[in-house]
Amino acid sequence: MTIKRTLLCIAMEAEAKPLIEKLKLTGDTSFFPPNTPFVCHRSEAVTVVCAGKDSATSVDNVGTVPASLMTYLALQRDEFDLVINAGTCGGFKSMGATIGGVFITTASANHDRRIEIPGTQFKEYGIGAIDSIATPNLTKLLKAKNGVCTTGNSLDHCKEDDEIMANNNASCKDMEAAAIASICKMCDVPHFGVKVVTDIVDGDRPPFEEFMENLGSAAQSLQATLPAVLDFVQGKTIEEL
Ligand code: SAH
Repeated sequence: MTIKRTLLCIAMEAEAKPLIEKLKLTGDTSFFPPNTPFVCHRSEAVTVVCAGKDSATSVDNVGTVPASLMTYLALQRDEFDLVINAGTCGGFKSMGATIGGVFITTASANHDRRIEIPGTQFKEYGIGAIDSIATPNLTKLLKAKNGVCTTGNSLDHCKEDDEIMANNNASCKDMEAAAIASICKMCDVPHFGVKVVTDIVDGDRPPFEEFMENLGSAAQSLQATLPAVLDFVQGKTIEEL
């Protein structure tokens, strides 16, 4: 079976906007139920969904809860052959990350779900590691790096997070990847992530400072990368990626 329709899940509007404009996607206000904040733009082959704005604060709905609900509602339509989680991330310089660099995920896992109950598998459940599909040819084409994306609901990180992120063998850190992966697994749709580094996790600057400084250029880098990704996957089988 070849890939005909791809769903791109993107958390923030600023990350998605250049791509929506470049691909001349059309807004589809009937895609999501009316009581949700999620936003959809699409063409025949490509559907981009964003988590929209929080009604109380007007900021983007980042994090795992909106990401999983948005992905679930989109996949309920049973239209998609592939899901790509696209967006920004923190990168670990110890794993070769540089600002603006692109990672294609090999797996994702959580670092803020610490559920140690001896004699049970809650610890493994909390980590929730899920493999992405293998994309050796795409990775080579993009000259991207491969790596595990570790997910948590905070932009910063505490020492407990640090330990688990290291155990997760993470190259990059975001707030959605593991949630989107869990829904893709539940719905049996292949997925991987394309993440551009906006800030260095194991550096000496606060992530929010670097994040705000680099969000614009990262969105441009995503815009440069994602059309090449979409061109490459279209009409191929999952095994050919
Ligand atoms: N300060 C930003 C907040 C964005 S939250 C604002 O005001 O808009 C960060 C978003 O970028 C999330 O969607 C997350 O997936 C991604 N991200 C980028 N760098 C990150 C990091 N170091 N840690 C976690 N998420 C990061």
